[in-house]
Amino acid sequence: MASIFTRIIQGEIPCHKVAEDDRYFAFLDINPLREGHTLVVPKLEVDVFFDLPPDQLAGIMLFAQEVARKIRKVVPCDRVGVCVIGLEVPHAHVHLIPIDRMSDMDFARPKLKLSAEELAAIADRIRNA
Ligand code: AMP
Repeated sequence: MASIFTRIIQGEIPCHKVAEDDRYFAFLDINPLREGHTLVVPKLEVDVFFDLPPDQLAGIMLFAQEVARKIRKVVPCDRVGVCVIGLEVPHAHVHLIPIDRMSDMDFARPKLKLSAEELAAIADRIRNA
């Protein structure tokens, strides 16, 4: 069965899209740690990040770089943190999180509660940065 991220990429499940090319797709995390928390996903459905073919692995970081630069332009932060977890969704992805301090990357912290309108507005700003 297709992963939830494949279903998002295929448009079956809605998301707040930030960027897309032929191989990768970026959208806002629905339960963000910080405003602008974005997921970058390969269209190729592979569970474990380091099982991605080498060209896909290298390519996702280059795509994430472009997205991170846009995030940093429009979301006030010191820098954009990067991490790979993958414990919840078995489809490789990179978290991009605007951060000012170490604790901003702490996934054990309560997530932000942002409305669909707020998420849509953030995605719009990043997309158009
Ligand atoms: P992990 O697999 O541990 O890296 O976590 C998966 C991330 O995907 C979590 O931060 C979730 O909030 C996020 N997530 C799960 N479902 C969705 C969805 N439908 N739209 C956006 N983000 C999602």
